[in-house]
Amino acid sequence: MSTVNSAQEAVNTVADQAILAALQQTFAVGGAIINNATGEVIVAMHNNVLMPFLGNTTYFLPHDPTAHGERQLVDWYYENVAALNLPTPSQLTIVTTLDPCAMCAGSLLTAGFNVAVSAIDTYAGINYNSQFNFPSLPPQIRQQAQNSWAYYAIAAPVSRPYQGSMRPVFGGQGIDSSAYYLTASIFDASVNTVREASNNSGLDPSHLKNPATLPANSPVRKALTKLSPYALTVCSLNPRDPGAELAPPLLQTAQKAAQKTEVFNSVALLDPFGNLLVCLGGVENESPIKTAFMETTRSYAVMRWTLMNDPDPAVRAEAEQYLTHPKYGTFVFLYAPDPTTPQAVMTFGAYGSTMEGPVPLSYPSNLQYVLLPGNTTPQALSTLAQNLPPFYTQSVQVAPAQVLSQDLINAVKKGV
Ligand SMILES: [Zn+2]
Repeated sequence: MSTVNSAQEAVNTVADQAILAALQQTFAVGGAIINNATGEVIVAMHNNVLMPFLGNTTYFLPHDPTAHGERQLVDWYYENVAALNLPTPSQLTIVTTLDPCAMCAGSLLTAGFNVAVSAIDTYAGINYNSQFNFPSLPPQIRQQAQNSWAYYAIAAPVSRPYQGSMRPVFGGQGIDSSAYYLTASIFDASVNTVREASNNSGLDPSHLKNPATLPANSPVRKALTKLSPYALTVCSLNPRDPGAELAPPLLQTAQKAAQKTEVFNSVALLDPFGNLLVCLGGVENESPIKTAFMETTRSYAVMRWTLMNDPDPAVRAEAEQYLTHPKYGTFVFLYAPDPTTPQAVMTFGAYGSTMEGPVPLSYPSNLQYVLLPGNTTPQALSTLAQNLPPFYTQSVQVAPAQVLSQDLINAVKKGV
């Protein structure tokens, strides 16, 4: 890979990635991991939320709502750190064209990278108010961000002063107005169409068919069962009000995950018929940001995209007719995220990116948990959700709620 010698060169490099993302018709954001000591560009990536559909260059379908540039860079780092003998995250900087969203900010802070940013995102960015006080982060984590993040200075005519820590690569430096303008305007030009494509894919529940009626050899049933052995084995009478039937899959999945990760958690996704579609634990032994929710939402989205992108039109039709958009489903966490951690910001952010817009039929909520971790209170969890950047509070309206069923709570308590 190349080496860069200034903030300007670093931002030019990630801006090239944002252009590739724009050409792919996904969110036009790019980033790179750069070695603080040498300026080496270790890897550069761009957003991959939307991917071309059947090689068609005019129709793009949500592929993975978590495939933001920065989140992918964090997972790439953990996949390659041993083989490439990479420095620690504190010796590296993720340079990005756009202020990270809640999911990416939580990912970057979990891993401990330095971060340097070109453009501000006043709607979904973690520094949406440009004050560098990070009101969306748990109070314990704000100082960490202030110590390791920076927003490069921008020369006239934009004339933005340098903001933040000197630790990121090329700390204290600035970029010219045209590089800044490119990174800001290319994102602005992409954001609304990508959000709409992400939020509007999939049939309304009144037109959806029930996957529990599919035969054993159907492509959708086989794909679901491959993801999770509990797929379509459990059905809740009311998809927004799961009962004790959900306890065994949640507990058994968490037990299995904990054998590898020592993290006892799982997340289930129910469809509008109440069917359990997917129930997964985390893979934190591979990467600390591969939590149960990240795995569940990503695996379901990629599986749905793969089937809807199948060369066989019958497979595509079945996926379209039987697999719900997650906004009509219900996510049920065994344990809610701990609101004092950056993973909680990441989790609520990833949920926001999964919805990409308002949630229909929102009562009681499609973001539910059975138990709270440690000394957490429902208020602490709600406060974290209510402090998120405007996209999450005004558009998605992230509102975690405990499941209503005392039977489910009791059944889970017996098993933990
Ligand atoms: Zn992001």
